[in-house]
Amino acid sequence: MRAPKGTFDVLPPDSERFLAVRETLTAPLRRAGYGYVETPVFEDTAVFSRGVGESTDVVTKEMYTFDDRGGRSITLRPELTAGLMRAFIEHRLHDGALPVKLWTVGSAFRYERPQAGRYRHFTQVDMEALGVDDPALDAEVVALGVQGFRDLGLTDFELLLTSLGDATCRPQYRELLVQYLEKLDLDEDTRRRAEINPLRVLDDKRPEVQAQLGDAPLMVDHLSDSTRAHYDAVRQHLTDLGVTWTEAPKLVRGLDYYTKTTFEFVHHGLGSQSAIGGGGRYDGLSAALGGPDVSGIGYAVGVDRTLLAVQAEGLDIGVAAGVQAFVVPLGAEAKRVAVRLVGQLRQAGVAADTVYGDRAPRTWSSSATATWPRVWVSSRTCAPASSTRYPSGSCSTSCVKRWGRDR
Ligand code: AMP
Repeated sequence: MRAPKGTFDVLPPDSERFLAVRETLTAPLRRAGYGYVETPVFEDTAVFSRGVGESTDVVTKEMYTFDDRGGRSITLRPELTAGLMRAFIEHRLHDGALPVKLWTVGSAFRYERPQAGRYRHFTQVDMEALGVDDPALDAEVVALGVQGFRDLGLTDFELLLTSLGDATCRPQYRELLVQYLEKLDLDEDTRRRAEINPLRVLDDKRPEVQAQLGDAPLMVDHLSDSTRAHYDAVRQHLTDLGVTWTEAPKLVRGLDYYTKTTFEFVHHGLGSQSAIGGGGRYDGLSAALGGPDVSGIGYAVGVDRTLLAVQAEGLDIGVAAGVQAFVVPLGAEAKRVAVRLVGQLRQAGVAADTVYGDRAPRTWSSSATATWPRVWVSSRTCAPASSTRYPSGSCSTSCVKRWGRDR
């Protein structure tokens, strides 16, 4: 039996790095007052079809959707924002103080063509600041994403930033773009895509398409006065926060709900799947899910891809610490002493382990444990390697005290 196509197991010692990345990406959120939320790994399908957008690749091609035994259409979450918004609405969090700042982390599922950095089961850190439309909040959100990457020691990443306008200016711009695209030489598929969401064509990576988009109209040149002022203020706050970015006027994200500030984090050591995170403002999402008309902004960062970025930069994080005391019984009679000592060391807060089974020599001389500090235990004495020995009666207590002092 093997793990399903597009999925993988995370095993020690790599799992330590995975945990370290997850922890480091979420620590800035906790420091900034974001509260942890857990939502189900599956939701009613409508949460995603309405929340992510009927026309998106995620909804049309990539969802794991099935009828449960009660005949309900259920979908494994392809992203975490829609479920968080559903919870925000269901529990009327908007009735409290605003903004409501939330974060979560967990599995997401997409039926994509697997390749390096693109999986069918992956992990996202997701954060949202809901209920306030303030450019300073946009800047906070973007800066927290940057902080997570910086804290990991990453340097070879770039923040791409743009504004996608809003209902006051995007429809007119959309018309302009449609007229422009109609004159181009595009294949049937791309034409169909252009009819559903013409902005997506701008983000088409194929050189033959990009070659025709040189003088395409750009949203940033057609922002309304209010969305332009919003975007200017976001950039001012980002400068104040010491965050640098690259203007990316053709940036369009894969999900339909974005408005105004939109951004992506890319890493230059990852090849084609270079996006390590992205997000933006989505002022229509709550209403689309049947909630009040409140604004929101947030991002999702891929933990797996960020780990690949950490490895691409050769950063040494999350290396397993090992134990502080590895207790080695010298002979079968010392077993009881060793087991008791390990228990006492652990109770005293010392990371301790011992030998189990009868394959002792190989277990404790393996490369993983070779550098761990040893406590040798005979039936009569025990002592940290090359230190004073203790009388058998007080052996465990003395060792615990001694290790407590020496640590
Ligand atoms: P998205 O929800 O599409 O905006 O994705 C946010 C982040 O999740 C991306 O920048 C990636 O880091 C990560 N991600 C998205 N899809 C996948 C996937 N299929 N496999 C691994 N990571 C992914």
